[in-house]
Amino acid sequence: MSERDLLMIPGPINFDPGVLRAMSAPTAGHTAPEFIERFGCTLELTKQAFLAPSATPFVIAGSGTLAMDIAASNLVEPGDKVLAVSTGYFGERMVAILQRYGAEVTLLRAEVGDVVPLDRVAAELARSQPKILTVTHVDTSTGVAVDVRALAQLGRQHNALVVVDGVCSVAGMELRQDEWGVDVTLTASQKAIGVPPGLALVVVSPRALEAFRARKTPVANYYADWTNWLPVMEAYLARKAAYFGTPPVNLVYALHESLRQILAEGMEARVARHQKLSDAFKAGIAAIGLKQVPVRHAIAATTMSAPYFPAEIDAKVIGKIRERGIVVAGGLHPAIREKYFRVGHMGVVSPADLAATLSAIEGALLASRYEFNEGAGLATFEKALA
Ligand SMILES: *Cc1c(COP(=O)(O)O)cnc(C)c1O
Repeated sequence: MSERDLLMIPGPINFDPGVLRAMSAPTAGHTAPEFIERFGCTLELTKQAFLAPSATPFVIAGSGTLAMDIAASNLVEPGDKVLAVSTGYFGERMVAILQRYGAEVTLLRAEVGDVVPLDRVAAELARSQPKILTVTHVDTSTGVAVDVRALAQLGRQHNALVVVDGVCSVAGMELRQDEWGVDVTLTASQKAIGVPPGLALVVVSPRALEAFRARKTPVANYYADWTNWLPVMEAYLARKAAYFGTPPVNLVYALHESLRQILAEGMEARVARHQKLSDAFKAGIAAIGLKQVPVRHAIAATTMSAPYFPAEIDAKVIGKIRERGIVVAGGLHPAIREKYFRVGHMGVVSPADLAATLSAIEGALLASRYEFNEGAGLATFEKALA
């Protein structure tokens, strides 16, 4: 990839140069006063970005899948009932993780591109009375966003701990952890948080920590165990050093800088910016005749888009987009893998990035002899933004 290419996949995203510079600072020891202050401050900023003043943040070296593993391994004991709502590939992955720790999982699976109706979730909560409800805010395999606020309310009504995989939503879409009653929100650094891959972020409510403390069996994952990490996070929050595993010092520097930028923009402004850019981009995609995986605009994520290829066009067009300097992602959902592609538009993404992406898509389609109203995508996009 040339340094001038644009990475427009749903994670890792394009990173802000200031974040990359922060990462390149000399590595301090994890007990150095300057690192203690920086990590403590980063944990506080994490709570602010998740809108979770009452929660405890865990920032641990690993990917988003580790964040899922941390949530599941610390909350599940063998035989616990879990209701998992799946809108795609990552919902299914959560089920596999939960089962690994002995959960009895009931799976409610949405049709491809759709969500599970709330009344079905409510009925299943009432029937099975699960200890935990898991949902994927944005399933990156479909670009479908669920209604976290409504689902969390249902979970709470039935006394379930609400776990949200927010890997493709946190810091891009609205997610008010405390206010909405979400118990665990998890994400990874490389998506809308805007930091190179390597950090798992898990933010945990007092209620979830209480459930963890009431466990009768030890956590079956040594690295993920909150027994090891809770004293570490509490120490740094109190501006003291503590050790369990060496923290990823330079990624913490980067996270500190990215969270500073995110909070300077403001969570509401940031959510509104993602919405506006997403609406305009999706309108542009529709104007050149491409259908999208989410079956209704109202359930489409604002951090990414998932357009179907037009008839007669196949995944080779991704290579033609690539030749135009724009990197987009192929399909991920097994049922439709060859039929669509994915564009990430989160974090520091700009209108110019999306205009360049639409232009490259139009150019690639033209080169593939797809007939459409040439230029309509870009024109619609610009009009929607104006
Ligand atoms: C990317 C992603 C994950 C997995 O994160 P990794 O960092 O690749 O392990 C999990 N859930 C969702 C919704 C994602 O988008």
